[in-house]
Amino acid sequence: MSNCNAKNSLNCWGEKLDDVVMDCQVCGYKHVIELPSSEALRKLYEEEFYQSDKKEYIAASSADDSWRDIEFGRRYDIVEKKLSNRSGERLTAFDIGCGPGDFLAHGKDRGWDVRGIEPSSVASKYARSRGLDVQTGFFDANAANNLPKFDFVHMSEVLEHVPNPLEVIQLAKGLLKENGILTISVPNDFSPMQRALVDACDYSPWWVVPNHHLNYFDFDSLANLIAKAGLDVFDKTTNFPMEMFLLMGQAYTQKPDLGRKLHGWRKNFDLNMAVNKNGFHEDFYRALADVGMGRLVVLFAQFPND
Ligand SMILES: [Zn+2]
Repeated sequence: MSNCNAKNSLNCWGEKLDDVVMDCQVCGYKHVIELPSSEALRKLYEEEFYQSDKKEYIAASSADDSWRDIEFGRRYDIVEKKLSNRSGERLTAFDIGCGPGDFLAHGKDRGWDVRGIEPSSVASKYARSRGLDVQTGFFDANAANNLPKFDFVHMSEVLEHVPNPLEVIQLAKGLLKENGILTISVPNDFSPMQRALVDACDYSPWWVVPNHHLNYFDFDSLANLIAKAGLDVFDKTTNFPMEMFLLMGQAYTQKPDLGRKLHGWRKNFDLNMAVNKNGFHEDFYRALADVGMGRLVVLFAQFPND
């Protein structure tokens, strides 16, 4: 990000935003213009994030267990299918920024050998209390150098927070076995449904939160960044487009109670769609991802075939 001086306008997403976020042609994705200091970032994710911003996340977690198993299960399903030609040895997974360890716990339950890293002392301690192998710390070159190679490296909602996403992808790539898979998810920002909300309903871009989200990706910009790091994206998916509720007139962004209610509705949708194992739940999300929609960008990548 150090080379980007040109302030490219966001074009019609609101003049006020142009002082905060730029559509960077050097980096290839949208990012904030003013980066917080590394000291501020360290303090935020080591000491504050799970204590304040995600305070209720760990406590509220168990109510979402069965739904989260479906969300995470979809990712493991795609990865296991791709790795299916392997011999019977136990598959290994590493989760970067694993929080309280939900993704790892799911993998462990389905027979994976799992490890993770998480900067928040509270969240990583909680993960260890569940019997998970999780170290406290930031995923940097030093951490990466002390790790073995894995079949599956997962990084969910990390890259929007870091000042150097390309470098983080390159470090994650260094952890992959020859046929290993890197799965990255980030919020799908400046998306078509968000555009519709700005155009039709006078929403201001509420997803721009420069104190936490330094980078704003979509399917194309994240895929391009992964390609820049030397990996091939072979699959993509997303999850429920929460903006659909806003487009239906359910303005939940400032109303936590309504937000929880609608979260319950999307959980119902996923739980019911997942009952039938014919794959059309995943087909639905893959189709959304194909047109750039859905709340998250979730991409699956491997080393290129020669
Ligand atoms: Zn840039």
